[in-house]
This record gives sequence, structure tokens and C-alpha cells, in this order.
Amino acid sequence: MRTIKLPGGGLLPQLGIGTWYMGDAASQFEPEVGALRYAMERGIRLIDTAEMYANGGAERVVGAAIKGFNGVQREDLILVSKVLPNHGHFDGVMEACNNSLRRLGTDYIDLYLLHWRGSTPFQETLDAFETLRSSGKIRHFGVSNFDLSDINEWSQCPGGNALATNQVLYNLSRRGVEWDVLPNCKKRGVPVMAYSPLEQGRLKDAPALSQVAERHGVTPLQVALAWVLAQDNVVAIPKAVDHAHIEQNIAAQNIALDRADHALLDTAFPPPKGPSRLEML
Ligand code: NAP
Repeated sequence: MRTIKLPGGGLLPQLGIGTWYMGDAASQFEPEVGALRYAMERGIRLIDTAEMYANGGAERVVGAAIKGFNGVQREDLILVSKVLPNHGHFDGVMEACNNSLRRLGTDYIDLYLLHWRGSTPFQETLDAFETLRSSGKIRHFGVSNFDLSDINEWSQCPGGNALATNQVLYNLSRRGVEWDVLPNCKKRGVPVMAYSPLEQGRLKDAPALSQVAERHGVTPLQVALAWVLAQDNVVAIPKAVDHAHIEQNIAAQNIALDRADHALLDTAFPPPKGPSRLEML
């Protein structure tokens, strides 16, 4: 598993697994727990979740998956969770984090993110993150859905340079961040976490992806993921419950796209020619 250095020390695996829509249906709880365990057995160590997903239900799925699972030591896992912007004030962050810890059944969250910008001044959220870090409840903190001006504003706050990641929408059909967000994060040494790297499956019928997939004997979505994984300073967190999907996503790490593949994909999904509004899902 390839890794990227975290600015505060430690390593971030380049491939993780997402959990949006997990925890929504009681009938799916066991298959979802099984999927996360299967992913961990197959070497996945990075799990992304959020208090928002199924109102804490996804965190409960993660908690159940890691509880009593002997395959992985807690210290080898990187658990990412996110606080909602309307909980971004000091007391709100404290309470949200305690609730997430309880649902996850763990003493600490490795990476705690502000899910997107809200109305609370950044400094107040930052102070709360620093307090959680000093008390050991989180190891690192970061942000999500931040555009360039948000990153600049956050970084100018005292303590704001301790930014471990910016999690943003990034895949072949959403390349706007290549213009400014990605280069800026790279310059700061902040890894970017690409969410919805498969565009939630919608990329599967793209002819250019099928063409490249055929050359490599893989699926179009594996190519879409391989393309994200080929980007510098980028981590991808595809969500998958189907075990075959998990397997394919892990195998996508071994797909080496060549110049001809990149040229074809760049023609079908052109890189940005200027700044654009940050896209979100
Ligand atoms: P995604 O990872 O792009 O796509 C997930 C969908 O693709 C699921 O329906 C999954 O099906 C399917 N899939 C996965 N691997 C596949 C494969 N190899 N072949 C075919 N289908 C495959 O979308 P996402 O869930 O929106 O994004 C990933 C994670 O990013 C989320 O789960 C969440 O943790 C995070 N996220 C963060 C934000 C944010 O605002 N920070 C926003 C969106 C997402 P099965 O489940 O049936 O296997």
C-alpha cells in the first residue's frame, strides 16, 4: 500500500474506504460491517466516515467493524470522521467529537475534519480542534470542501497551519481543483483526500474509460480509480460494500496508466483552463 506523509508526522495510506450511505438501513448493517472487515483483511487501513452519514449510523457500522476484529490493531488504523458545520462552535465540536468517539467505540479519532465551511469563525473551530488534540481525543485535524480562499483564511488563523488534509470532490469528471486547490495543498505539504473518486459509479459508462479499461483488461471504474491514484499528493476513499468492488479497488493500485491512456482520458475529461467554483456533492 502506497502512503503519503502527513504534515504532523505519520503516514496516510493512499487508498482507503468511504462509508457514506452505510448505516442507513438496519437490514444492511451486517453486510456493511462485513465489507469493512473484508477491506481491512485485504489491507485497507484508512476508513472515512462522518457524524452526518445516517445520523451517526455509519460511525456505528465502523465501530462494529473494528470492535473485536483481530485482524488489525487499532494503532494501525486511520479513522477519519467529520464534524458538521453547525456543530463548529467550541462546545459543539467537543460534544460532536465525544458522540463520534462513543459510536466508533474508540478513544481517539486519527483525523477529524470540519465537513464544510459554516458560519462559525474558523478560529473557534480551530481552538476546539487544538483542545481535542492536546487531550488526545484526536491525533490530527483537517478540513473538507475548502476552496483556495477558505484554505488561505484557515491557514492565516493562529494554529491554522497544522492542517492534515483537505478532503474534496475529485475524479475525472470533477477536475476543477487541479487549477488551484491541488497545487496549493501540495505547496503546503497538505495531502488531498479525493472523495467520490468513482463519481458514485456514474463514470462506468464513459467510452474513454471503457477503451482504456479494455487495453488493461480491467473495468472502467478501476481505470477511474487508478487515474485518481496516479495523481501526486492525493489519497482516494472509494466506498464499496460489494466484496468484488473492494477487491477491484485494491487491484486498481497496480494499474499503470501510460501516456497514451492519460492523453485519451485528458481529451475526454479535459483539465481546467481557469479557476472555477469548488464542486461539492
Ligand atoms: P464513490 O466512492 O465514488 O462511489 C461509491 C459507489 O460506487 C457505490 O455505489 C459502490 O457500490 C460503487 N463502487 C465502488 N467500487 C466499485 C467498483 N470497483 N466497481 C463498480 N462500482 C463500484 O462515492 P462516494 O461514496 O460518494 O465517495 C466515497 C466516500 O467519500 C464516501 O463514502 C464518503 O466517505 C466520502 N465523501 C465525503 C464527502 C465530503 O463532503 N467530505 C462527500 C461525499 C463522499 P457498492 O457500495 O455496492 O459496492
